[in-house]
Amino acid sequence: MRGHGAPRTIAAMHSVLSIAGSDPTGGAGIQADLQVFRSLGVHGSGVITALTIQDSKKVHQVLPIFPSVVLDQLRILLRDMAPNAVKIGMLASDDVARSVVLGLQERKPDVPIVLDPVLFASDGTELLERRAWPVLQGLIAETALVTPNLPEAEALTRRDVSTRRGAEAAASALLEELGAGAALIKGGHREGDPDDLLATKGPTGVELRWLAGERVPGGPVHGTGCALASAIAVGLALGKSLPEAVDVGRKFVLRGLRAAEALGSGARFLVYP
Ligand code: PLP
Repeated sequence: MRGHGAPRTIAAMHSVLSIAGSDPTGGAGIQADLQVFRSLGVHGSGVITALTIQDSKKVHQVLPIFPSVVLDQLRILLRDMAPNAVKIGMLASDDVARSVVLGLQERKPDVPIVLDPVLFASDGTELLERRAWPVLQGLIAETALVTPNLPEAEALTRRDVSTRRGAEAAASALLEELGAGAALIKGGHREGDPDDLLATKGPTGVELRWLAGERVPGGPVHGTGCALASAIAVGLALGKSLPEAVDVGRKFVLRGLRAAEALGSGARFLVYP
Protein backbone atom coordinates (compact mmCIF):
# COMPACT_ATOMS: atom_id res chain seq x y z
CA MET A 1 0.00 0.00 0.00
CA ARG A 2 1.20 3.49 -0.79
CA GLY A 3 0.93 5.89 2.14
CA HIS A 4 1.46 9.63 2.28
CA GLY A 5 5.00 10.48 1.29
CA ALA A 6 5.87 6.86 0.49
CA PRO A 7 8.30 6.58 -2.43
CA ARG A 8 6.72 5.78 -5.76
CA THR A 9 7.72 2.36 -7.00
CA ILE A 10 9.02 1.94 -10.52
CA ALA A 11 7.42 -0.90 -12.47
CA ALA A 12 10.84 -2.42 -13.08
CA MET A 13 9.63 -4.68 -15.84
CA HIS A 14 8.25 -1.77 -17.83
CA SER A 15 10.19 0.79 -19.79
CA VAL A 16 9.38 3.36 -22.44
CA LEU A 17 11.90 4.68 -24.94
CA SER A 18 11.71 8.32 -25.99
CA ILE A 19 13.30 9.30 -29.30
CA ALA A 20 13.25 13.08 -29.19
CA GLY A 21 15.08 16.39 -29.11
CA SER A 22 16.74 17.92 -26.07
CA ASP A 23 15.07 20.94 -24.49
CA PRO A 24 17.38 22.42 -21.85
CA THR A 25 14.42 24.03 -20.04
CA GLY A 26 13.04 20.57 -19.23
CA GLY A 27 9.59 21.72 -20.30
CA ALA A 28 9.48 19.82 -23.58
CA GLY A 29 11.53 17.25 -25.49
CA ILE A 30 13.33 14.32 -23.95
CA GLN A 31 13.80 15.97 -20.54
CA ALA A 32 10.01 16.36 -20.24
CA ASP A 33 9.33 12.85 -21.53
CA LEU A 34 11.59 11.29 -18.89
CA GLN A 35 9.84 13.26 -16.13
CA VAL A 36 6.48 11.95 -17.37
CA PHE A 37 7.75 8.36 -17.45
CA ARG A 38 9.09 8.68 -13.89
CA SER A 39 5.93 10.32 -12.67
CA LEU A 40 3.81 7.49 -14.10
CA GLY A 41 6.05 4.80 -12.61
CA VAL A 42 7.98 3.31 -15.55
CA HIS A 43 11.64 3.35 -16.46
CA GLY A 44 12.55 5.79 -19.23
CA SER A 45 15.30 5.40 -21.79
CA GLY A 46 16.15 8.05 -24.35
CA VAL A 47 17.75 8.56 -27.75
CA ILE A 48 18.49 12.21 -28.53
CA THR A 49 17.85 13.35 -32.12
CA ALA A 50 18.81 17.01 -31.78
CA LEU A 51 20.04 19.61 -29.35
CA THR A 52 18.11 22.83 -29.11
CA ILE A 53 19.16 26.09 -27.57
CA GLN A 54 16.02 27.49 -25.98
CA ASP A 55 14.54 29.23 -22.97
CA SER A 56 10.95 29.49 -21.83
CA LYS A 57 10.32 32.24 -24.42
CA LYS A 58 11.65 30.80 -27.67
CA VAL A 59 13.84 28.33 -29.52
CA HIS A 60 17.13 30.06 -30.37
CA GLN A 61 18.78 27.27 -32.37
CA VAL A 62 18.31 23.67 -33.52
CA LEU A 63 21.33 21.39 -33.93
CA PRO A 64 20.55 17.94 -35.33
CA ILE A 65 22.75 15.12 -33.99
CA PHE A 66 24.94 13.34 -36.59
CA PRO A 67 22.57 10.85 -38.29
CA SER A 68 25.03 7.95 -37.82
CA VAL A 69 25.15 8.72 -34.09
CA VAL A 70 21.36 8.64 -33.87
CA LEU A 71 21.33 5.33 -35.71
CA ASP A 72 24.02 3.83 -33.46
CA GLN A 73 22.29 5.03 -30.28
CA LEU A 74 19.09 3.27 -31.37
CA ARG A 75 20.63 0.10 -32.80
CA ILE A 76 22.88 -0.57 -29.86
CA LEU A 77 20.15 0.20 -27.33
CA LEU A 78 17.47 -1.91 -29.03
CA ARG A 79 19.80 -4.91 -29.47
CA ASP A 80 20.23 -4.94 -25.70
CA MET A 81 16.95 -3.65 -24.24
CA ALA A 82 13.37 -4.16 -25.37
CA PRO A 83 11.15 -1.21 -24.38
CA ASN A 84 7.45 -1.89 -23.86
CA ALA A 85 6.57 1.18 -25.92
CA VAL A 86 8.32 3.85 -27.97
CA LYS A 87 7.47 7.56 -28.04
CA ILE A 88 8.83 9.62 -30.93
CA GLY A 89 9.00 13.42 -30.87
CA MET A 90 11.19 15.95 -32.68
CA LEU A 91 13.22 14.47 -35.57
CA ALA A 92 14.86 17.72 -36.76
CA SER A 93 16.26 16.74 -40.17
CA ASP A 94 15.69 14.43 -43.11
CA ASP A 95 18.84 12.39 -42.36
CA VAL A 96 18.01 12.03 -38.67
CA ALA A 97 14.44 10.98 -39.46
CA ARG A 98 15.76 8.33 -41.89
CA SER A 99 18.20 7.09 -39.23
CA VAL A 100 15.33 6.68 -36.78
CA VAL A 101 13.31 4.69 -39.32
CA LEU A 102 16.35 2.47 -39.93
CA GLY A 103 17.23 2.07 -36.26
CA LEU A 104 13.67 1.11 -35.35
CA GLN A 105 14.04 -2.00 -37.51
CA GLU A 106 15.91 -3.48 -34.52
CA ARG A 107 12.81 -3.27 -32.31
CA LYS A 108 10.85 -6.31 -31.25
CA PRO A 109 7.67 -6.82 -33.28
CA ASP A 110 4.44 -5.44 -31.84
CA VAL A 111 6.07 -2.74 -29.69
CA PRO A 112 3.55 0.12 -29.81
CA ILE A 113 4.89 3.40 -31.20
CA VAL A 114 3.30 6.72 -30.29
CA LEU A 115 4.37 9.42 -32.74
CA ASP A 116 4.05 13.10 -31.87
CA PRO A 117 4.67 14.51 -35.38
CA VAL A 118 6.48 17.64 -34.25
CA LEU A 119 6.85 20.16 -37.10
CA PHE A 120 7.06 23.58 -35.40
CA ALA A 121 7.54 24.94 -31.89
CA SER A 122 4.88 27.26 -30.50
CA ASP A 123 7.06 30.26 -31.45
CA GLY A 124 7.02 29.07 -35.10
CA THR A 125 10.57 27.67 -35.20
CA GLU A 126 10.83 24.74 -37.60
CA LEU A 127 11.63 21.58 -35.60
CA LEU A 128 11.56 19.28 -38.66
CA GLU A 129 12.92 20.48 -41.97
CA ARG A 130 10.31 20.44 -44.72
CA ARG A 131 12.10 17.98 -46.97
CA ALA A 132 11.76 15.44 -44.13
CA TRP A 133 7.98 15.62 -44.04
CA PRO A 134 7.59 12.64 -46.44
CA VAL A 135 9.79 10.53 -44.11
CA LEU A 136 7.51 11.46 -41.21
CA GLN A 137 4.47 10.61 -43.33
CA GLY A 138 6.03 7.19 -44.05
CA LEU A 139 6.70 6.60 -40.34
CA ILE A 140 3.00 7.05 -39.55
CA ALA A 141 2.31 3.59 -41.00
CA GLU A 142 4.45 2.06 -38.21
CA THR A 143 2.53 3.68 -35.37
CA ALA A 144 -0.10 2.51 -32.91
CA LEU A 145 -1.05 6.18 -32.52
CA VAL A 146 -0.14 9.50 -34.10
CA THR A 147 -0.94 12.69 -32.13
CA PRO A 148 -0.87 15.77 -34.40
CA ASN A 149 -2.14 19.18 -33.39
CA LEU A 150 -4.39 20.91 -35.93
CA PRO A 151 -1.62 22.56 -38.02
CA GLU A 152 0.31 19.26 -38.10
CA ALA A 153 -2.80 17.31 -39.13
CA GLU A 154 -3.38 19.82 -41.92
CA ALA A 155 0.23 19.67 -43.13
CA LEU A 156 0.43 15.87 -43.06
CA THR A 157 -2.93 15.12 -44.71
CA ARG A 158 -3.38 18.28 -46.84
CA ARG A 159 -6.94 18.58 -45.49
CA ASP A 160 -8.45 21.85 -44.32
CA VAL A 161 -9.04 21.18 -40.61
CA SER A 162 -10.69 24.50 -39.74
CA THR A 163 -14.08 22.79 -39.39
CA ARG A 164 -14.98 19.71 -37.35
CA ARG A 165 -15.88 17.90 -40.56
CA GLY A 166 -12.47 18.79 -42.01
CA ALA A 167 -10.73 17.44 -38.91
CA GLU A 168 -12.72 14.22 -39.24
CA ALA A 169 -11.57 13.87 -42.87
CA ALA A 170 -7.95 14.43 -41.77
CA ALA A 171 -8.25 11.85 -38.97
CA SER A 172 -9.67 9.29 -41.40
CA ALA A 173 -6.87 10.06 -43.88
CA LEU A 174 -4.23 9.45 -41.19
CA LEU A 175 -5.58 5.90 -40.79
CA GLU A 176 -6.74 5.03 -44.32
CA GLU A 177 -4.13 6.82 -46.44
CA LEU A 178 -1.09 7.03 -44.16
CA GLY A 179 -1.68 3.77 -42.25
CA ALA A 180 -1.70 4.92 -38.61
CA GLY A 181 -3.11 2.41 -36.12
CA ALA A 182 -5.07 5.29 -34.58
CA ALA A 183 -4.96 9.10 -34.57
CA LEU A 184 -5.60 11.71 -31.91
CA ILE A 185 -5.98 15.20 -33.39
CA LYS A 186 -5.45 17.65 -30.55
CA GLY A 187 -7.85 20.57 -30.37
CA GLY A 188 -5.75 23.07 -28.42
CA HIS A 189 -5.31 25.33 -31.46
CA ARG A 190 -9.09 25.42 -32.12
CA GLU A 191 -11.16 28.53 -31.46
CA GLY A 192 -13.65 27.71 -28.71
CA ASP A 193 -13.68 24.37 -26.93
CA PRO A 194 -10.36 22.54 -27.39
CA ASP A 195 -11.96 19.15 -28.05
CA ASP A 196 -9.70 16.35 -29.30
CA LEU A 197 -10.71 13.89 -32.01
CA LEU A 198 -9.84 10.20 -31.64
CA ALA A 199 -9.91 7.97 -34.72
CA THR A 200 -9.59 4.22 -34.25
CA LYS A 201 -10.16 1.18 -36.46
CA GLY A 202 -13.49 -0.57 -35.91
CA PRO A 203 -15.03 -3.63 -37.53
CA THR A 204 -16.81 -1.45 -40.09
CA GLY A 205 -14.04 1.07 -40.74
CA VAL A 206 -12.73 4.20 -39.03
CA GLU A 207 -14.52 5.11 -35.80
CA LEU A 208 -14.44 8.78 -34.77
CA ARG A 209 -14.97 10.06 -31.25
CA TRP A 210 -14.91 13.67 -30.09
CA LEU A 211 -13.38 13.98 -26.61
CA ALA A 212 -14.46 17.08 -24.71
CA GLY A 213 -11.55 19.35 -23.79
CA GLU A 214 -11.23 22.09 -21.19
CA ARG A 215 -9.46 25.40 -21.79
CA VAL A 216 -7.30 26.04 -18.73
CA PRO A 217 -6.76 29.80 -18.23
CA GLY A 218 -3.36 31.34 -17.49
CA GLY A 219 -1.54 31.67 -20.82
CA PRO A 220 0.76 29.39 -22.80
CA VAL A 221 2.20 26.20 -21.32
CA HIS A 222 5.30 24.61 -22.86
CA GLY A 223 5.55 20.97 -23.90
CA THR A 224 1.97 19.76 -23.53
CA GLY A 225 2.22 17.71 -26.75
CA CYS A 226 5.36 15.93 -25.55
CA ALA A 227 3.75 15.12 -22.20
CA LEU A 228 0.54 13.83 -23.75
CA ALA A 229 2.25 11.44 -26.18
CA SER A 230 4.59 10.24 -23.42
CA ALA A 231 1.78 9.57 -20.95
CA ILE A 232 -0.18 7.65 -23.61
CA ALA A 233 2.95 5.60 -24.42
CA VAL A 234 3.21 4.66 -20.72
CA GLY A 235 -0.42 3.50 -20.76
CA LEU A 236 0.25 1.29 -23.79
CA ALA A 237 3.47 -0.03 -22.21
CA LEU A 238 1.46 -1.07 -19.15
CA GLY A 239 -1.01 -2.97 -21.34
CA LYS A 240 -3.93 -0.56 -21.37
CA SER A 241 -6.16 -0.48 -24.43
CA LEU A 242 -5.60 2.47 -26.77
CA PRO A 243 -8.77 4.41 -25.75
CA GLU A 244 -7.92 3.81 -22.07
CA ALA A 245 -4.33 4.98 -22.53
CA VAL A 246 -5.57 8.10 -24.37
CA ASP A 247 -8.01 8.82 -21.54
CA VAL A 248 -5.33 8.43 -18.85
CA GLY A 249 -2.89 10.58 -20.87
CA ARG A 250 -5.39 13.41 -21.39
CA LYS A 251 -6.30 13.45 -17.69
CA PHE A 252 -2.61 13.47 -16.72
CA VAL A 253 -1.92 16.51 -18.93
CA LEU A 254 -5.05 18.32 -17.73
CA ARG A 255 -3.91 17.91 -14.11
CA GLY A 256 -0.47 19.20 -15.12
CA LEU A 257 -2.05 22.20 -16.89
CA ARG A 258 -4.19 23.12 -13.89
CA ALA A 259 -1.08 23.15 -11.68
CA ALA A 260 1.23 24.77 -14.29
CA GLU A 261 3.82 27.23 -13.00
CA ALA A 262 6.19 29.82 -14.46
CA LEU A 263 9.86 29.02 -13.86
CA GLY A 264 11.16 31.54 -16.39
CA SER A 265 9.77 34.70 -17.95
CA GLY A 266 8.00 32.95 -20.87
CA ALA A 267 5.63 29.98 -21.17
CA ARG A 268 4.67 28.11 -18.01
CA PHE A 269 5.58 24.47 -17.38
CA LEU A 270 3.35 21.53 -16.55
CA VAL A 271 3.55 20.44 -12.93
CA TYR A 272 3.42 16.67 -12.78
CA PRO A 273 1.45 14.96 -10.05
N1 PLP B 1 11.74 21.65 -28.11
C1 PLP B 1 11.69 20.33 -28.26
C2 PLP B 1 12.94 19.55 -28.12
C3 PLP B 1 10.47 19.73 -28.55
O1 PLP B 1 10.40 18.42 -28.74
C4 PLP B 1 9.29 20.53 -28.65
C5 PLP B 1 7.98 19.98 -28.93
O2 PLP B 1 7.78 18.87 -29.23
C6 PLP B 1 9.39 21.87 -28.48
C7 PLP B 1 10.63 22.41 -28.21
C8 PLP B 1 8.22 22.75 -28.65
O3 PLP B 1 7.46 22.86 -27.55
P1 PLP B 1 6.30 23.93 -27.62
O4 PLP B 1 5.34 23.43 -28.62
O5 PLP B 1 5.74 23.97 -26.25
O6 PLP B 1 6.91 25.22 -28.08
